[in-house]
Amino acid sequence: MSLQRTFIMVKPDGVKRGLIGEIIKRFEQKGFTLLNAELMTIDRSKAEYHYMEHQEKPFFGELVDFITSGPVFAMAWEGENVIEVSRLMIGKTDPSEAMPGTIRGDFAAAKEENVIHGSDSLLSAEREIENFFGLLKRRSLEDDFPFEDRKSV
Ligand code: UDP
Repeated sequence: MSLQRTFIMVKPDGVKRGLIGEIIKRFEQKGFTLLNAELMTIDRSKAEYHYMEHQEKPFFGELVDFITSGPVFAMAWEGENVIEVSRLMIGKTDPSEAMPGTIRGDFAAAKEENVIHGSDSLLSAEREIENFFGLLKRRSLEDDFPFEDRKSV
């Protein structure tokens, strides 16, 4: 087991459809810790950097058009094996192959608009968190707000 951080983003279709709360709920229920979150509309250079591994793909232009078309909800989460576990919770890229019970399996209909992004490796998690948030404001929820104090609020 290893404590990891990952970058999760509700894409413009998910924001438009009111799925932010549902997605946060699933990650909280799983026991992960939210480190940072922001509703933002990103410019093309941030989007192109985010999807740099796909820049030679035929769908790259449309992917960047789509991700910059409206607000996204960007989040950094922390937890045990959160990178791999969140990919399982998200489901396959193509929603027609995503299992029921996964976020894409339950809510998405097309691979071009599949509701949510999640980092696929430690290296991309680090790069993506920095691209969207710079250095994290909160290192860990436990650092700023220990669980014992939370119970007394
Ligand atoms: N994508 C697309 N057309 C394709 C393949 C992928 O529009 O034929 C989009 C899709 O939204 C996907 C994103 O590109 O989520 C990044 O692709 P990747 O293979 O990294 O999938 P993911 O990690 O998001 O499951």
